[in-house]
Amino acid sequence: MAFLEGKKALITGFASDRSIAAGIARAMHREGAELIFTYQGDKLEGRVREFAQSLGSDSVHALDVASDDDLAALTDAIRARHGHLDIAVHSIGFAPRDALQGRFIDNTSREAFGIAQDISAYSFAALARAVLPLMEGRQGAMLTLSYLGAERAVPRYNVMGPAKAALESTMRYLAADLGPDGIRVNAISAGPIKTLAAAGISGFRSMLSKAEGMSALKRNVTADEVGNVAAFLCSDLASGITGEVTYVDAGFRMMGFAEGGAGD
Ligand code: NAD
Repeated sequence: MAFLEGKKALITGFASDRSIAAGIARAMHREGAELIFTYQGDKLEGRVREFAQSLGSDSVHALDVASDDDLAALTDAIRARHGHLDIAVHSIGFAPRDALQGRFIDNTSREAFGIAQDISAYSFAALARAVLPLMEGRQGAMLTLSYLGAERAVPRYNVMGPAKAALESTMRYLAADLGPDGIRVNAISAGPIKTLAAAGISGFRSMLSKAEGMSALKRNVTADEVGNVAAFLCSDLASGITGEVTYVDAGFRMMGFAEGGAGD
């Protein structure tokens, strides 16, 4: 039996077929979940509806996580249409483009720092608060997407580093608060994947090739590989896991250094 049969899953953050949210949606659909989607801004609505339809869903809702009104409307819409929710996936990140180049010390304005924290970190807490009433009495699961830049200094990831650090900490506080209600909260730290958001980081192509060379598997990961782990973490198979960051990075983080560099 598919391991998400009977589960209702909210997927945020679809922007293209390459989005990590797309990989997560494909895996959760394959495992039997009923999917609910959100889109940010009118320009993305058509694309999200088309993708949702390809996975048997016509439940598509507007959501800008900067808007408390949007979050409240989403709660009402899901309650009216689906009654409850078992899974909420937060696959959202944003920082102003000019902060994602050059040196952190030169290009991190107060404004860029605030925006990155609000949209990329606080929004997970805001989304959790919005969907919590829909998970009452269920073995709910929430999931967010992080990156190694949360814990290590990665060139040009800059202002997103502190935002992801705050996101991972937010994930742990949510897990502690919601654990007594039987709701689990986790994060996946994914290796670099060429998506629209990633294209905003200057020199992203070199990040991809460095990650490939350094990782144990000598390749990068795909959105579908992240999706498979997301489906597992949000399923009852992972009922004993909460408050954790799981690395889906082809074995990059655990390496000390790679063979084949200067001096070999
Ligand atoms: P993507 O561009 O496909 O998705 C980013 C999504 O964030 C888009 O759908 C966009 O609409 C949404 N978003 C931005 N601001 C929003 C707002 N105010 N309200 C609602 N939605 C908003 O890129 P992706 O790489 O799939 O990113 C998904 C998540 O994965 C992000 O948190 C990103 O930081 C994280 N991540 C990405 C990589 C990578 O290399 N691609 C690696 C690790 C983690």
